[in-house]
Amino acid sequence: MAGHSILFLGRGDFAAEYLAELETLPCCTLLIRSPEMAFPIDAPSMVDLILLDAGPATARTGEDLASLIQTLKPFPVVAVTEKAGEQRGIAAMAAGAQAHVCIDDVTVGGQEGIFDHAVRRHRLQRQLSDSDMTVLSILNSINDGVIVVDRDGHILDINRAARGILGLGPRVQPDSGWERTFCCIDAGGKSYRNAADLPLVRARKGEKFSGQVAIYRAPEQPDTVLSLNGQGLFDGGGELIGGVVTFRDVTDVMRRTDELERRAQYDELTRLPNRRLFAEHLSRAIGRSQRKGMPLGVLFIDIDRFKSVNDTLGHDTGDELLREIAARLKNNLRVGDFCGRWGGDEFVVCLEDFGEINNAAAAAQKLLLVLSERYTIGHSEVYATPSIGIASYPDSGDNAERLIKAADIAMYEAKKRGGGRFQYYSRTMNAKLAQREELELGLRHALVRNEFVLHYQPRIDLGSGRLIGLEALLRWQHPRFGLLQPARFLPILEASGLIHSAGEWVIGAACRQLAGWQRQFELPDLSIAINISPQQLVHRRLAEAVAESLNDNALDPGCIELEIGGGDIVRRRAAEMETLKALRKLGVRLSLDHFGTRDVSFESLDNGFIDSFVLDPSLIADVEDNGSHQRIVRAAIAMARGLDIEVAAEGVETLTQLEFLKSCNCDLAQGFLISRPMQPEKVSAVLRSEIAGTRLLARGMP
Ligand code: C2E
Ligand code: MG
Repeated sequence: MAGHSILFLGRGDFAAEYLAELETLPCCTLLIRSPEMAFPIDAPSMVDLILLDAGPATARTGEDLASLIQTLKPFPVVAVTEKAGEQRGIAAMAAGAQAHVCIDDVTVGGQEGIFDHAVRRHRLQRQLSDSDMTVLSILNSINDGVIVVDRDGHILDINRAARGILGLGPRVQPDSGWERTFCCIDAGGKSYRNAADLPLVRARKGEKFSGQVAIYRAPEQPDTVLSLNGQGLFDGGGELIGGVVTFRDVTDVMRRTDELERRAQYDELTRLPNRRLFAEHLSRAIGRSQRKGMPLGVLFIDIDRFKSVNDTLGHDTGDELLREIAARLKNNLRVGDFCGRWGGDEFVVCLEDFGEINNAAAAAQKLLLVLSERYTIGHSEVYATPSIGIASYPDSGDNAERLIKAADIAMYEAKKRGGGRFQYYSRTMNAKLAQREELELGLRHALVRNEFVLHYQPRIDLGSGRLIGLEALLRWQHPRFGLLQPARFLPILEASGLIHSAGEWVIGAACRQLAGWQRQFELPDLSIAINISPQQLVHRRLAEAVAESLNDNALDPGCIELEIGGGDIVRRRAAEMETLKALRKLGVRLSLDHFGTRDVSFESLDNGFIDSFVLDPSLIADVEDNGSHQRIVRAAIAMARGLDIEVAAEGVETLTQLEFLKSCNCDLAQGFLISRPMQPEKVSAVLRSEIAGTRLLARGMP
C-alpha cells in the first residue's frame, strides 16, 4: 500500500519520542493536532488515517472516547495508548477504532502493517451495508470463531472466539499468507493445501459453503480440526469486497467419530478387521496384484465343531478361544499378509505375493498346525482344528467377493472330508458356488414373492393314538429348482441373517393355520410345534412376534411349542436368556429339539425352562438293533418322567420302533410310519377323518 497521510489527534507532548520516530517513516506524512483544534478537519480528503491518543487527556471518560470515535467514523482510526492505558485502547476498539497500538509494545517500523490493516478494514466496513455490519458485529460476539478477510487475503477481523480456538494471542495480527495455515482434507482423510479449496480463499472469492472440515496447522501447536462455514462479502452494488468464515472446533468430535468408525471396522471381540474392512483391504490387494501381474491367495478358515465348545464350555470360553485363535493367526502371518474375522468362528486371510500356489498351501499348512495346538483357557484345555479353503487370484475369481466365496466353498469341501485339513478351490466347485449364489440371491426375494410354504407333520399321543398336534416344517418353492427342503437353504438363511424375517413369517403362518384348524374342526387343544434357530433367540423381536401372532389369532399360548435347535439352554448369553424368559412369560411351551445329539446339562432340564424335548431321529433310526441307543432312549425318557418333562420321538419309521418307544413310556411320536409332512389341505383331510374316529396310526398299522 502506498504511503499514508496520518493525522495525529492528541496532546502535543504525548509520547514525543514515538511521534518523532513515526515522522521518520518514509511511508507516513504526519500531522499533529490537539483534539480541541482538530474540528472541523480541514482537507479531509488528504487524511488517510487518524491516529488517536486514547488517553484521558484527549477524552476524559469512556463515553467521551466513544463519541469522539463516532465523530471520526469517516476515517480509519488507530487508537494509541501507553501500556498503562491499555484498557482504553480496548474500549476504543469496541467503539469502532480499527486497531489499537500500545506504544511500549510495538516498534515504529512495525506500525506500517497496522496502518495498512486499519485502512483496509475501514474501507471494507464502509462498503458494507448497515445490515451487514450488524450481522458482522453479532458474529463477532458469538462463541463461534469469525474471521473477516478482504479480497486480497488481508485478515481484517478475528474475533475473540477465533483467537481462543486457534491459539492466537490478542494482539497477533496474521499477515495475508496466513490463510495457508489451514489445510484441507480429501475424501480419504488426507490433508492437502490446494489454494482453491482453502476456506479463507473460498470465502474471499465469494463462494458460499458450510460444514467444510479443515485443519488449522500452526507451528508448535497441535492440529485443530475445524468445521467452517463461509461466504463472500459484497458492497451495496453487489460487488465482491471480501469474505467471512465462521467456524467451531470439532477436534474432539472428530476424534470420537474416528473412534466410532474404527470400531465399526474392527471386530469387537478379536480386534481383527471385520468383514467389510477385510473385503476393502482385499480389493486393494487385488488391484496391486493385477498391476504387478502376481497371484494372490485367500484362505477361508472355519473352526471344526466350534459350536460344541460353546455348548459344553459356555460362551465365555468360546469367546476366549476365538480371541486366542485371532492372536495366533496374526502372529503367524508374513509381513504384508493380513487377516480378518468373517463372522462367528470364521476367519479370512489374504496372502499377497505368495509366488506359486504351493506357497499358499505351505501357509495354510502352517496355520493348520498352529491353530490345532492346545489352547489353555482358564482352567480348561481346549483342542480345536480348523478347516481351511484356499482360493487364488486370478484363477478362482477376479474380485474380493468371488474369491472369498470360492475359498468358503473350498473350506466346506475340507469340512466334508472330515475337517482339520485344507482344500484348494477347484473349477468343479464352481457349479456349486453358482448354485449357492443363486439360492442366496433367491432367498432375499423369497418372502416378498411368497415362495415359502409350510408343510405339517402330525404328532400322535402314543398312549391313545390320537393326533394331538403338528410340526410346522419350512419349504421353499423355488422357481427353478422346485420344492426345496430346509437342509438346502436353512444354512444360508442362518448365515445371511435372513432367518429372522423368515422365522417371523413361519411363526405368523403357523399360528394363523393352527387357529383356522382349531376353529374349523372345533379342536381347541390342537397344538403346533414351530422350529426356532438359535440365532433367532438373540433378537428380542422374536418374543414380540410370537406375542403378536398369539394375539392376532386369539390363540391359547399353551398350544404353541417352540422347538429350539442347537446348544444348551443355560449356557446362553444374556440377550438369548432374556428372549427365553420373555417367551416363558408369554406362556408358550419351550422344547429342546434334536435331543441326544446335543449337549444338554441337567441344570437346563431342571430349571423349569423346558416343557419337553424331541428325541433325534438318529437315535430312533437304529434303535431296534443298537443296544446303546436303546439304553439312551430308555434313560432319557425315565429322566424326563422324573423331571415332569414331555418326550416326543421323531423319525419313527417302523412298528418295532414304535413299540419300543411305547414300552419306554414315550409320550409322543412323529415319523413317516405315521405320516409324512403334508401340505395344509391334506392335513385338513386328516383332521376330518381323525374327528370321524379314524386314527392315523390305525391306518398306518398293518
Ligand atoms: P426337525 O425339527 O428334526 O424336523 C424333523 C425332520 O425330520 C423333518 O425334516 C422331517 O421331514 C424329517 N422326518 C420326519 N419324520 C421322519 C422319518 O420318519 N424319517 C426320516 N428320515 N425323516 C423324518 P425337514 O422338514 O427336512 O426339516 C429338517 C430340519 O430343518 C428340521 O429338523 C428343523 O431343524 C429344520 N427346520 C424345518 N423347518 C424349520 C423352520 O421353520 N425354522 C427353523 N429354524 N428350522 C426349521
Ligand atoms: Mg423340530
